[in-house]
Amino acid sequence: MASGFRGRVRRFLQKPGTADLGRYQRFLPEITEQGPRLRGLADAQLAAAAAEAASAADICAIGREAARRGLGEEPFDVQLLGTLAMLSGQVVEMATGEGKTLSGAIAAAGYALRGRSVQVMSVNDYLARRDAEWMRPVYELLGVTVAWIGQESSPQQRRLAYAAQVTYASASEIGFDVLRDRLRTDVADLVAAAPDVVLIDEADSVLIDEARVPLVLAGAVATAAADTQMAQIVRRLSRRLHYEIDEEGRNVRLTDAGARAAERALGGIDLYTEEHLDALTRLNVALHAHALLQRDVDYIVADGRVRLVDESRGRVARLQRWPDGLHAAVEAKEGLSASDSGEILDSMTIQSLVRRYPTVCGMTGTAVAVGEQLREFYGLEVAVIPPNVPCVRIDEPDRLYATVRQKEEAVADLVTTMHAQGRPVLIGTLDVAESERLARRLKLAGLSCAVLNAKNDAQEAAIVAEAGAYGSITVSTQMAGRGTDIRLGGAKRGQRTDHHQARDHDHDQAAGHDNDQARDHDQARDHDHNQVAELGGLYVIGTGRHVSSRLDHQLRGRSGRQGDPGGSVFFVSMQDELIVQYGREAPPDAEVPPDGRITDARADWLVGHAQRVAEGVLLDIHRNTWRYSKLIEDQRQIVLEHRDQVLRTGEALQALAGRCPERFAELSTALDEDVLQKAARQIALYHLDRGWTEYLARMADIREGIHLRALGRGLNPLDQFHAEAVRLFGHMLDEVARQSEETFATVPISADGADLAAAGLMRASSTWTYLVQDDPFGSPLSRAARSIGRLIRKPPN
Ligand code: ADP
Ligand code: MG
Repeated sequence: MASGFRGRVRRFLQKPGTADLGRYQRFLPEITEQGPRLRGLADAQLAAAAAEAASAADICAIGREAARRGLGEEPFDVQLLGTLAMLSGQVVEMATGEGKTLSGAIAAAGYALRGRSVQVMSVNDYLARRDAEWMRPVYELLGVTVAWIGQESSPQQRRLAYAAQVTYASASEIGFDVLRDRLRTDVADLVAAAPDVVLIDEADSVLIDEARVPLVLAGAVATAAADTQMAQIVRRLSRRLHYEIDEEGRNVRLTDAGARAAERALGGIDLYTEEHLDALTRLNVALHAHALLQRDVDYIVADGRVRLVDESRGRVARLQRWPDGLHAAVEAKEGLSASDSGEILDSMTIQSLVRRYPTVCGMTGTAVAVGEQLREFYGLEVAVIPPNVPCVRIDEPDRLYATVRQKEEAVADLVTTMHAQGRPVLIGTLDVAESERLARRLKLAGLSCAVLNAKNDAQEAAIVAEAGAYGSITVSTQMAGRGTDIRLGGAKRGQRTDHHQARDHDHDQAAGHDNDQARDHDQARDHDHNQVAELGGLYVIGTGRHVSSRLDHQLRGRSGRQGDPGGSVFFVSMQDELIVQYGREAPPDAEVPPDGRITDARADWLVGHAQRVAEGVLLDIHRNTWRYSKLIEDQRQIVLEHRDQVLRTGEALQALAGRCPERFAELSTALDEDVLQKAARQIALYHLDRGWTEYLARMADIREGIHLRALGRGLNPLDQFHAEAVRLFGHMLDEVARQSEETFATVPISADGADLAAAGLMRASSTWTYLVQDDPFGSPLSRAARSIGRLIRKPPN
């Protein structure tokens, strides 16, 4: 009866979108019971037990013993609750410093032991490497292979790393591997692994904050410098004598006289031999640009660049380029240097990257606040794990000031006061400019501080780790997602430097440290810890509230870890972007004292309200972006599956042979079958990749103009966009088939395969990748504000 009542109360109190922990808690006795028996096993027996682990409880029990042996840390019950929830495909919320790295590693090993292939997605390269190396002893004891990938890893290293049972890598490295594979034309060159299980660290950062960020693969098609030469040649040709244009103005053809003139200008070559096919193609492209495309009708030249005019709209279409070298030919015609902006070959958002995995789970300090979004966008549930020791941090109410200047003065004063007591202070700012202003102010006051500004992850982690030392002052932007633990009194031995450095040493050697020295060190550390704890622990100051309260909590959560004392306070000014943009009310008109401090009762409400409005706007943006990108993502999947089919089977040749039987018969007498397979594949993939690239550019462009067009005709822009996407996608696939057939019929094919270059069909000569962010060093607030600004300027749906 009583327990039934408690159950009902618990369910009632439970936040929406969160899981009931009861179903995990009941495994704990069973896990604990296995402890003594497992402790008696030799390492090899432990690995054997792991291989046979049947249940999630077995995995937790064996994982706990492996962590005890490998790291000297025995996972707390709450850490194993986290592991269990992740093994059920949930996102766990566990406060900073609770030991998520270990919880996650046991979960990852658990999936691996069930035969799954696991990728642990980290926020950056530094953390991917740190965590893989840090957890390696645990994995080794469990008989699970582990590896990591960083930006510098070679394709071969990546392939090997993906082959491990558990692979640590940042979201962007994984995403770029997937994108780069999109351009490979040989199965042996593929790098990325098939998506299976992904375990995401700092899951809210990746799944919500970064979800809309597109990963972009861009490429430069080799536009020969000789384009200028061709442009000069065609400029001297005259219509009717040297070339003819058909009635509709859609095609241009050289006359015999034109061909002879061009041949002379090119040094007396014969354009119609196979050797000069390339020159002939370039000449034709240049002629097309010269004779068929008219400046100020088909395109305009602005800011030194060629911009296309879309016939149907008469407005400038910024994102579009003509295909296959024509763009460069027009640039050459206009005497402009070839634009080096490259073109987007493919792109995908982090959200769609994650949605490829059949199993998704994750961990973060702040998940509940985005529980509903995790459910809406990913179908994920949140499990809230209580802290091992209750949190006693004191969170003070916000302090509101009239101006930024007054606010910053007050911040500096408070830092001075805290520092005078020796209490460590961590100051989180919203942007780099503010952190630098504040550092200058503190310096003038005679205080020295460490300033972090998002440039070197490894070095910064080392600085953050020391932020809890006696008397230290640390100023940092974007604490969310930094993933570094701040201990009172300073970092612990072995964490003072990077984990992996310690681990690079021989295992046994590390274990053989001088015991006395280690004990002295531990005692000194405890003393440092207690000294700072007596002062009240780490004091966190936020110089402004973030666009979402979740990010505020991330910052506060750096203090008060594992039951330590701590404090936090946020400063806000009426001039802060958040208040100016979203604060609905005019500033309270109560009398403002000389120091600018506003103590009006409505101040708290005002700040909270502005933040809720901002959160709502961000959610709308996310939802809206997703609605637009969903269909394109589905189409992308269709293209990828088709591409994979072409890459791995003889489908391309079969189709092309069916459509061009004579050409096939002619070719198959001269070459063996393998060469033809390869050639057909090259041709089909070339056109498919080109078609997709051009389709993406076209859709991006349509997306830009869709609101205006749809609004004019009283239609729903999203429906319109979808209708266009479906139509153009079908058209694109037809064109790919037609062009492939045409190329197969005409392109020179030898034992080396199809000579696509001879037909002017060039693959990107180089590719590069980037993340689209307005300003990589800007604060999330200013980035969000800018995108909101853009959204607001557009007419609403
Ligand atoms: P989080 O990612 O949750 O913020 P970390 O995984 O970085 O936390 O771990 C924080 C610190 O806690 C690390 O120094 C780690 O060694 C320590 N730790 C984790 N689990 C335990 C444990 N069971 N016993 C003792 N220390 C632990
Ligand atoms: Mg962490």
